[in-house]
Amino acid sequence: MENQLKSEVQQERPPRVVIFPLPAQGHVNSMLKLAELLSLAGINVTFLNTDHLHNLLLRHADVETQFAAYPGFEFKTISDGLPDDHSRSTDSVMEVLNSMNVTTKPVLKEMLVSGVLSNSVTCIIVDGAFTGFATDLAIELDIPIIHFRTVSACCIWNHFCVDRIIEAGGLPIRGKEDMDREITSVPGMECFLRCRDLPSFIQVSDLSDPKLDQIARTTNQSCRANGLILNTFEDLEGPILFHIRTLCPKTYAIGPLHAHLKLKLANNKTDSKRPVSSTSILFEVDTNCLNWLDSQPPKSVIYVSFGSITTLTRNALMEFWHGLVNSNKRFLWVLRPDMVAEDTEVPAELMAATRERGYMVGWAPQEEVLGHHAVGGFLTHSGWNSTLESIVAGVPMICWPYFADQPINSRYVGEVWKLGIDMKDVCDRKIVEKMINDLMVERREEFERSTVEMARLATESVSLGGSSYRNFDQLVDYIRQTGR
Ligand code: UDP
Repeated sequence: MENQLKSEVQQERPPRVVIFPLPAQGHVNSMLKLAELLSLAGINVTFLNTDHLHNLLLRHADVETQFAAYPGFEFKTISDGLPDDHSRSTDSVMEVLNSMNVTTKPVLKEMLVSGVLSNSVTCIIVDGAFTGFATDLAIELDIPIIHFRTVSACCIWNHFCVDRIIEAGGLPIRGKEDMDREITSVPGMECFLRCRDLPSFIQVSDLSDPKLDQIARTTNQSCRANGLILNTFEDLEGPILFHIRTLCPKTYAIGPLHAHLKLKLANNKTDSKRPVSSTSILFEVDTNCLNWLDSQPPKSVIYVSFGSITTLTRNALMEFWHGLVNSNKRFLWVLRPDMVAEDTEVPAELMAATRERGYMVGWAPQEEVLGHHAVGGFLTHSGWNSTLESIVAGVPMICWPYFADQPINSRYVGEVWKLGIDMKDVCDRKIVEKMINDLMVERREEFERSTVEMARLATESVSLGGSSYRNFDQLVDYIRQTGR
């Protein structure tokens, strides 16, 4: 009788998802987009941030107003276990994660069990990059759990294949002269993968490097989850998704998330006027560059941005700067205040040329910039969000990957998708100049064909009946079932 009563009460529960991102700008941004998509689909969402990250978010973005439109949405916070005055810089990511492993797990359990996180939590979506402890906890408490990865499927597949690569003798990498060696043991990538294209965390020179074990353990956790969400689409990474599904059958490719959300918001009559753009947690967005772009000819500007984490040496800064100026093209360059650590004196002729045909900005409204008619190319670090935003906007890329998934993303851009040029591991003013001219002039028509087609496929995937649209519907169906 008691069981019957319990199951009847449970049947009435509306599904509520707790979304728990890794506390870093790119990760929170993507998961906020997922949260909004789910809210639009009528799912109740609790977005769980660390206290520190949430304070940053409130400082720069009006997210609480943005989400106030959704009655079932709530923000909650949790401690990462570090003192308030800790820098939590990019270099200390491992320290933050280790602290969360120790401190956050018991607090999260207490929040779930005591009802602080609302006692109607029916499903947890965690960032699969770090939350092994949340997976253990969900299994222990019998709550369905789904992993979300913010990087490309081709990167995740490399991570899944670490053991195969080692068994085939692909790792370790023996110095710089070994970087062009082919890696033929990753299914689906046999013909074009070199050591220098591997995601940076597995480019090790020593098999006892702890990163290898950590990557393999973290990635394999996703096989224990009830599903895996990826920010990609079938026409872009279908062959790799096929391989991932042999290990994680319930893999939902629902991207590009920013385009998916934009379309769903536009179709949602109740809140169609809300501006849609990336939430910037760390930097003030300077929109003046859009006015500058307005006065430039169509497709004449190369946009340069290396994302939120990349740093440049003084030497690299000068090589890019000279290359850009010598290309004689107009350029819009995002130079974050924290991007170059060393003091740099800029020669007068560079400053003069920059005033003539360049525009520098600390942080740009990137989606709008890439969608602007004056932009004809993107010099990028190949971060996954930047890559997807460029694909949707139909802008060809010159890729200068920095770390993480970027080396494999840039290989795909250059070699597989033919959406641009992979400049990887080179930073030389003559090459920068040549590649800009190749992209914007010599090979412009060739890239225009491939970028226009891929942009069309990206938009199609998130439109009614498209693959990401359907995959998202299946995800929502699954989440709804967790409430029954
Ligand atoms: N971005 C932005 N303005 C800028 C530079 C970047 O809004 O001036 C955004 C960009 O649109 C993307 C994100 O920051 O959504 C960068 O993410 P990505 O995955 O490309 O790189 P990461 O910053 O994680 O290295």
